Amino acid sequence: MEKLILEKSKAGRKGYTLPKKQFDYCVSEHIPEKYLRKSELNLPELCEGDISRHYTKLAHLNYSIEEGLYPLGSCTMKYNPKVNEKTSSLAGFTELHPCIGDESAQGALELMFNLGNCLKEICGMPGASLQPSAGSNGEFTGILTFRAYHLANGDSKRTKILIPDSAHGTNPASAVIAGFKTVNVKSNDKGRIDLEDLKSKCGDDVAGFMVTNPSTLGLFETEIVEIEQLIHGCGGLMYMDGANLNALLGIARPGDMKFDCVHMNLHKTFSTPHGGGGPGSGPICVSEKLVPFLPKPQIVKENGKFKLNYDLPQSIGKIHSFYGNFGVLVRALTYIYMCGAEGMRRISENAIISANYILSKLKDEYEIPHYEYCMHEFVLSCDRQKEHGFNAKDIAKRLLDYGYHAPTIYFPLIVREAMLIEPTETETLEALRGFSETMLKISQEGKENLELLTKAPFETPVRRLDDALAARNLNLAWK
Ligand SMILES: *Cc1c(COP(=O)(O)O)cnc(C)c1O
Repeated sequence: MEKLILEKSKAGRKGYTLPKKQFDYCVSEHIPEKYLRKSELNLPELCEGDISRHYTKLAHLNYSIEEGLYPLGSCTMKYNPKVNEKTSSLAGFTELHPCIGDESAQGALELMFNLGNCLKEICGMPGASLQPSAGSNGEFTGILTFRAYHLANGDSKRTKILIPDSAHGTNPASAVIAGFKTVNVKSNDKGRIDLEDLKSKCGDDVAGFMVTNPSTLGLFETEIVEIEQLIHGCGGLMYMDGANLNALLGIARPGDMKFDCVHMNLHKTFSTPHGGGGPGSGPICVSEKLVPFLPKPQIVKENGKFKLNYDLPQSIGKIHSFYGNFGVLVRALTYIYMCGAEGMRRISENAIISANYILSKLKDEYEIPHYEYCMHEFVLSCDRQKEHGFNAKDIAKRLLDYGYHAPTIYFPLIVREAMLIEPTETETLEALRGFSETMLKISQEGKENLELLTKAPFETPVRRLDDALAARNLNLAWK
């Protein structure tokens, strides 16, 4: 194991050069005596090369999409083209002060205006806001617009949001934080929303319905038209969780399915990095009736100039400081422009075919609940393997030994021993085949030598951890 950085410290070494004193100003003169440090800080002293190597070695302990396939279902870990980093670090963007006037920020405003238009076109919807800073934040924003819409109509008895049992956990959380009660809607034996159950829950107390389409089972809601008629029929609004739009680009539009609001995760479908805790971006698009309630400001174009319009009396207000996570917006627009409309469609076609390739390879060895062609991801169950004494978690751990990131496990909750696999469109046929064959091999290994599974991983920097303990007593110290 790499020597700890403090052990490598040698007095007098340094890896920085500070500028010569430029000002006749001493900070300590302005700090009260009691706050001044009396003893030296115990910091390691190293040369620049050693520091660089230390952090590079630490970085190599991490896994990333730069290193290999990352089939984390519902997260769309696609490869992020490096050109995105080039555009988002242009000085004209990074050095722009957020308080600068509209006149001097025309380029940034135009970029946001154009990105909003692209997303509206992709969704087939007339309104957008780029402010939400994550998918969940987009959900919260969208549900606040639902609330504002009903209240503006003097309709205050709508207190419920209907949510299927296959939903992403953030959906009920967002609805509750926005002040609603949630009501669970069952799935049927085809893994789709149970229309009878939905019907029994529709009424004049329903504010809206939140659904992920394709669902977290990787299946398209084939009865979305009937669902829409039921919800709109009882006066409710339709929310689509489009965090992951990777199966729909250029093929199907939420607007045509008559959704009133959809959020998209730019840090999933639109190739901006994620997984390290942010920054993310979860813009929303809305139908005509929700446009007046969108967050402000909205970017408008008047006489060839872009400006921020704050004069929106029915707006729910601001939900992010300034204009959202701007760097992420630059990356997403770069990606959309690089791919073009035709490329958008090809992304989804390839994402779907990649997932179906792996599904077809695994379907005999692993149980596939609701087996049929999938969209951009699919769920398998490790229930059969469990009979041999190993489970989804053991298989996920063993995958690490083969150099793969594990798929999402134990989600969606409605499938026992679930494994949600999403390869994305950016993997080659050889990579897809390699992963499929490894999944088959692991299942065989477990049947022949159970310890290989129950004790895995063997090759990672740390061996199997007690997940509950590791999460509660997270140890990030160098000591
Ligand atoms: C990722 C995801 C979310 C939440 O997005 P965050 O940016 O993590 O808040 C919501 N719904 C689905 C289906 C997702 O995959």
